[in-house]
Amino acid sequence: MSARVMAVANQKGGVGKTTTVVNLAAGLAQLGRRVLIIDLDPQANATMGCGVDKHALGRSVYHVLIDECEVREALVRSETGGFDVLPANRDLAGADVELVEMMARETRLKMALAEVENDYDYILIDCPPALNLMTINGFVAADSVIIPMQCEYFALEGLAELSTTLRKIKKWLNPKIEIEGVLRTLFEPQRLLSVQVSEQLKKHYGDKVYDTVIPRNVRLAEAPSYGRPIFAYDKSSRGAKAYAALAAELVSRLEPAVQPQSDPV
Ligand code: ATP
Ligand code: MG
Repeated sequence: MSARVMAVANQKGGVGKTTTVVNLAAGLAQLGRRVLIIDLDPQANATMGCGVDKHALGRSVYHVLIDECEVREALVRSETGGFDVLPANRDLAGADVELVEMMARETRLKMALAEVENDYDYILIDCPPALNLMTINGFVAADSVIIPMQCEYFALEGLAELSTTLRKIKKWLNPKIEIEGVLRTLFEPQRLLSVQVSEQLKKHYGDKVYDTVIPRNVRLAEAPSYGRPIFAYDKSSRGAKAYAALAAELVSRLEPAVQPQSDPV
């Protein structure tokens, strides 16, 4: 079975994309799944957040995209997370422009991943906060998209723009792409606005909205500065419980258990 490839995207900045990639990956690894994360953001927050030093990289996703190396040659292990990482650093900032001149610029990540897709159960792609060529490479390589969102006033407008882009991707570049799920992040249940936007979200996206909600939790914000997913930083925090629940919800949605035969008594 080849991996389920999921892009984590929202062109709005600071909504919890990277936090979700790192902690969902660690949650899935804790459930015994083989996981790879791909950092497509030159900020390299996902790379650093799982304990990989972006300044010490030999090869990175940039070299894969410009066809200077294979995915396997650039992989590193997140010891604190229990998964593999195709890391990024500042080199990636120029890739958008460099790739414009190159052949198959939108499908490069997808083609590169073919080599490793049987090595993993899940591949999570951290997209930058823009609908640029990196994000498009993510969408073309992916089976589906996880959309983290903060329940703020303009959030739904942002989702409409993202949906338009996904429709175009589906038409021109990747007919199988679908929305995997919409994840409410940085959630503050005591705020009326959070609750109202949450209701609207359910109206629009129905059961695509994950039951699991990620609360605002300071431990989640602290963990990356130690290069650790939340489980290796404070596993009893509310943030850790939420991401563990998300990993379990995702697995139960994607890996429906084989129904046991009823006992013929
Ligand atoms: P960007 O668009 O810049 O890539 P992003 O969508 O990847 O941002 P994150 O980097 O995951 O968002 O989160 C933005 C900031 O909010 C970070 O400082 C992160 O540590 C913090 N943060 C994310 N989720 C939570 C949470 N549930 N509770 C508290 N802080 C959080
Ligand atoms: Mg990010």
